[in-house]
Parts: sequence; C-alpha cells; structure tokens
Amino acid sequence: MKQDITLNYTLGEGWLAPWLDGLREGKALASTCKECGNAHFPPLRACPTCRAPCDGWCALNGGASVVYRTTGADGDFAMVRFDGACGAAIANAQALPPDATRAILAPCRDAPPKLALIPEPET
Ligand SMILES: [Zn+2]
Repeated sequence: MKQDITLNYTLGEGWLAPWLDGLREGKALASTCKECGNAHFPPLRACPTCRAPCDGWCALNGGASVVYRTTGADGDFAMVRFDGACGAAIANAQALPPDATRAILAPCRDAPPKLALIPEPET
C-alpha cells in the first residue's frame, strides 16, 4: 500500500547557525577542535581525531579542491575538500566547468542555504 504524507515543520539552526550564516554569505566557516586544533568542514560537534568537543569556529579562505564529480537526476555535484579543513563535502557543481579542479563557495540565499560552488577566480 502506498500513501503520500506531507510534513510541515521548522528546525531551529541551533549550533549550526554560524555555519549557515556563512553559507548565505559565501563564507566557509569550519568548526574547530579545542584539543588538537583541527578544523572541520562541514562542521562537526566532536573531533574524529581526539574526540574532544568542537566548540569554536574559524574562517576558511573558501577555496576547495574537487575530489570527485558526478551528474545525477538532480544535477551536477562534486565532492570537495575545503582548503585548511579536514573532511569532504558534497556540493552543487552546476556552475562549474566540467574540467574544473578548483572552486570557491558561492553565496546561497535558499532557505535553508545549500552548499554550491562557483569557479575560482583567475589569479
Ligand atoms: Zn581534535
């Protein structure tokens, strides 16, 4: 038996509020571990290296290296590693050229904001 349901709910931003504010402005914020100093993007509540709480934030430069890229039914997506942070994130790569190996975080006005990439400016 198949039945469609609709959910209407609101989630508070909670501890992710600084990160979400950064996404809206195109600024990459990473959570930081107070014990080992590692920065995590996307942010984590606890450090996977030393298990200490991540209770601080640091601004990254916003640049990221493309690790993997794929095109699915919902568009182009890339797994990227942001400069200066541990971990990898999945982001919308619709605005990136197919051969891009570098990108920067794009400002996102969606609610909630999503990770989206744009080409890194030429230097
Ligand atoms: Zn740590």
